[in-house]
Amino acid sequence: MKHFTEEEKITVLSDIIAMKTVNENEIEVANYLKDLFAEYDIESKIVPVTDTRVNLVAEIGSGSPVIGISGHMDVVSPGDESDWASDPFTLTERDGKLYGRGTNDMKAGLVNLALVMIELKENNELNNGTVRFMATTGEEVGGAGSKKLYEEGYMDDVDYLWVAEPSHDTIIYSHKGSLNLRVTSTGEAAHSSMPDQGYNAINPLMAYLLEVDEKLNGDDRKNEVLDQLVMSTTIFNAGNQINSIPEKAVAEINVRTIPEFDNDEAIDLFNTIADKYNKEGSNIDVEVTMSLPSVFTSGQSDMVDLAKELGKKHLDLEISVKGSPGVTDASNLLRGKDDNFPFMMFGPGETKMAHKKDEYVYKDYYFAFFDIYKKLILGLSK
Ligand SMILES: [Zn+2]
Repeated sequence: MKHFTEEEKITVLSDIIAMKTVNENEIEVANYLKDLFAEYDIESKIVPVTDTRVNLVAEIGSGSPVIGISGHMDVVSPGDESDWASDPFTLTERDGKLYGRGTNDMKAGLVNLALVMIELKENNELNNGTVRFMATTGEEVGGAGSKKLYEEGYMDDVDYLWVAEPSHDTIIYSHKGSLNLRVTSTGEAAHSSMPDQGYNAINPLMAYLLEVDEKLNGDDRKNEVLDQLVMSTTIFNAGNQINSIPEKAVAEINVRTIPEFDNDEAIDLFNTIADKYNKEGSNIDVEVTMSLPSVFTSGQSDMVDLAKELGKKHLDLEISVKGSPGVTDASNLLRGKDDNFPFMMFGPGETKMAHKKDEYVYKDYYFAFFDIYKKLILGLSK
């Protein structure tokens, strides 16, 4: 029988925290897990996304149900490392907390999933079905890894999906989509003493952005779980000299979408309004730089029910079940699935702690989620 000791669990997490997967280099984690799986005769496959960035897929069992478990291997930048109380890439324990970049978002969840796979396989505990482990690349920047897994059919036969993103007291079953656009206004440079010799690129873009803002943020459609769409212009760059009419202005916009007002409709609106301005003599170009659809499921499933029960028992917390404004790899992984698809995001850590300095996960919760994950899989594979 294989039973990972607490010490072994900490060692694996510590090894993986030491790998600097800041928006790249996930291959180090993929290779580490591949070798670890191989020690226990679990086959896994590196799924390349680009020349340097990869996913890892491993599987145990056979037939249905197919339980998809997923986590991302990348982390966000630690920022100024000297602001941290201890080195962000050295797992450090203080007061029952495990500190390090990615402990919370989401290497603790990812390691738990991998170690649970190993115990299930080694002890021959899985009754029925398949468990498919999907470790992704680039979640923090547009979900390139999960998009690849969806495109290559890894989700086609999946019956359940859970993503081990941090949210220890909340099971998330729906979340907003995320849409990034870059809008460029092109004008013509001239000396500011003779503005009519040129065309100011800033003016139409400002008017355009305010009009789009009013249309999007003023829309009253509301999702029962996710509330309303929100849009923000977050970057605006233009001009380079005080006495020159700017020939170029560029804005970037992020939109958080809902099923009732989805990415396609928002993109259409950006284009339609640009057309209107262009007919009046402007030159506004809209480019979509990222488009992740919202995830809306009913939250009614045996998986969510069981997770709630196990969470209460192992964490001694009341677990709430709700929607979230954040996005996960599920935006890509659940493309084409309907509202009844059993999906949840549930993992060790706190959503609010993500991307902060002195990131930590509670040690007890890290261990507790191992038990939750294992019992969940055993419960679903009956
Ligand atoms: Zn994350």
